[in-house]
Amino acid sequence: MTSSFRTFLVNDLFGDPALYVGLPWERRALLFDLGDISRVSAGHLLKISDVFVSHAHLDHFVGFDHLLRVLLGRSKALRLYGPTGFIDHVDGKLRGYVWNLVDGYSLAIEVYEVGPDRVRCARFLCPNGFRREEVAPRIAVDGLLLSEPEFRVRCAQLDHRIPCLGFALEEAVHLNVDKVRLEALGLPVGPWLMDLKRAVRAGRPDDFPVHVAWSRGGRREERCVALGTLRREVMRESPGQKLAYVTDVLDSAANHDEILTLARAADLFYCEAGYPARDADRARARYHLTTVQAGRLAAEAGVRRFSVFHLSPKYRDCPGELVAEAMGAFAGGAPNSRQAMGVLDTSQLHENAGSNPR
Ligand SMILES: [Zn+2]
Ligand SMILES: [Zn+2]
Repeated sequence: MTSSFRTFLVNDLFGDPALYVGLPWERRALLFDLGDISRVSAGHLLKISDVFVSHAHLDHFVGFDHLLRVLLGRSKALRLYGPTGFIDHVDGKLRGYVWNLVDGYSLAIEVYEVGPDRVRCARFLCPNGFRREEVAPRIAVDGLLLSEPEFRVRCAQLDHRIPCLGFALEEAVHLNVDKVRLEALGLPVGPWLMDLKRAVRAGRPDDFPVHVAWSRGGRREERCVALGTLRREVMRESPGQKLAYVTDVLDSAANHDEILTLARAADLFYCEAGYPARDADRARARYHLTTVQAGRLAAEAGVRRFSVFHLSPKYRDCPGELVAEAMGAFAGGAPNSRQAMGVLDTSQLHENAGSNPR
């Protein structure tokens, strides 16, 4: 099954956390953590609508200024989500600059601060010099941060000696096109299939017209097909995919339970694995996971694919050891055939990985 999300770890395994998730059906993207994002192209950054920040340690939030600079002159709304205290952190960043020459700029930043029993929201509008305005939050205290017809994002409250959020992105329904049936109907593959999926996800009625246009032998052809026909003939629906993202957490019973609930049966699980098992004491002292703890969590949660990141730079000379330990714990603890699917994109071991959205 092809993945619905286009995911990239922006930096290498030792770099700042920032996971870029493209939603191709919307030409839009989400970002999980906001470390150094200077390697990401402005075109990719401009697609970001929502940023989910686990906590405001420097390596998870230093990219805020870069994102702000790219978006500043744009007529755009940006939403940020973070743990208790997060509104003060964003406010503090914005107060660090002078905003007297921003006439005509309309960037709007909405910040959600999600605590265990309280959600707060503040708005910062560029025309007002990003002055903080407290507003009523549109989300409840149930961990559901974003709910749209196509996907949802949830969070879990985790412990990193400070509050830290873990996240799960869940697709409502997974859509695949049957290419054989498509050909039998005399229809080509092309960008119109994205429009078709968008119409299905939006719940359009069966008589909704889908326009298909293509060129053949230099001649332009065009057809209009009812959505109901396409849905019946070529569209294959299956349960939506799930991606989970967890970093900077202590190996504790409470975190363990929260992470298992969050990541249960995820198709793809990104988890920090900062320290090798031999340095478990060091990991515990810094409220981080070891490779083996991360791998066991992935196995217990029954995830299909597992990817580690945020390795401590202290181990820059032995990434293979850390990755092998994590994958070994994942494979050894997996209760079923999912263990065979544990993978790591080894291109992430190298800087300037080809898959990065530069
Ligand atoms: Zn941290
Ligand atoms: Zn960190």
